[in-house]
Amino acid sequence: MRGIALVTGGSRGIGAATALKLGTLGYTVVLTYAHDRLAAEQVVSAIEAAGGKAQARSLDIASEPQVLALFDELGAIPEPLTLLVNNAGVTEGFSKLEALRFEQLQRVFQVNVFGAFMCAREAVRRMGYSHGGQGGVIVNVSSRAAELGGSGEWIHYAATKGALDSLTRGLAKEVARDGIRVNGVAPGLIDTDLHATNGKPERVADMAPGIPMGRAGLPEEVADCVAWIASAGAGYVTGAIVPVSGGR
Ligand code: NAP
Repeated sequence: MRGIALVTGGSRGIGAATALKLGTLGYTVVLTYAHDRLAAEQVVSAIEAAGGKAQARSLDIASEPQVLALFDELGAIPEPLTLLVNNAGVTEGFSKLEALRFEQLQRVFQVNVFGAFMCAREAVRRMGYSHGGQGGVIVNVSSRAAELGGSGEWIHYAATKGALDSLTRGLAKEVARDGIRVNGVAPGLIDTDLHATNGKPERVADMAPGIPMGRAGLPEEVADCVAWIASAGAGYVTGAIVPVSGGR
């Protein structure tokens, strides 16, 4: 028994690929969606078709009451929470700083930073030895934008991933003796809906030639890295942020 893997934003893209991978590895997967229930149910069906166990839950990760309710619901599953993948994320669109609206800045931090912090806190309260837990793993899905800066496109988004990296590094040390490993993955350009839903469907094709490996990454390639971080093979890895970026 591997226990429960909670994957936020598991209805599409990197989260869906990660949920599917973890389901095939024997985790009981709880995946969340914000708007697209049908897509989330399709991921659940794919996991079940592969012989795994999964459930979909609605969650606006920016809402503390919704985060608390979700973690309470996990308590009804007769398995421990052993893995949190803090994947849900938004960009709040392309915008130079000079045109950025306060509402964009507020929302991108509420979802990407406050949401991830609240989920991490609730996971620590359940996994930590000092809370009676059995230990576990937290994986934060960051972005290469945190280091590259997002200039001309989305500094606001890049800054949220910088904050997430601070969470990874700080929390890893804080809970290292509580049986919890905390790491990040930093995807580069990954071929998901994210680019089109932000109004630039051509972004992946346009940028791919500039990637050192000459192509965008696949969501499954990020999922493979998350699965490795979660595995016993990464048992001495904590506080790391692994680029999955084709050299970008
Ligand atoms: P995506 O295809 O746009 O999927 C985003 C996911 O987050 C969806 O499952 C969505 O649910 C969920 N979500 C959106 N708002 C939410 C909210 N308020 N509360 C909870 N869940 C919410 O994105 P992706 O490309 O797979 O990206 C996944 C993660 O990787 C994000 O953190 C992103 O920043 C990061 N990343 C992506 C890339 C890339 O090139 N794609 C690169 C670097 C980092 P619904 O389906 O219900 O809307």
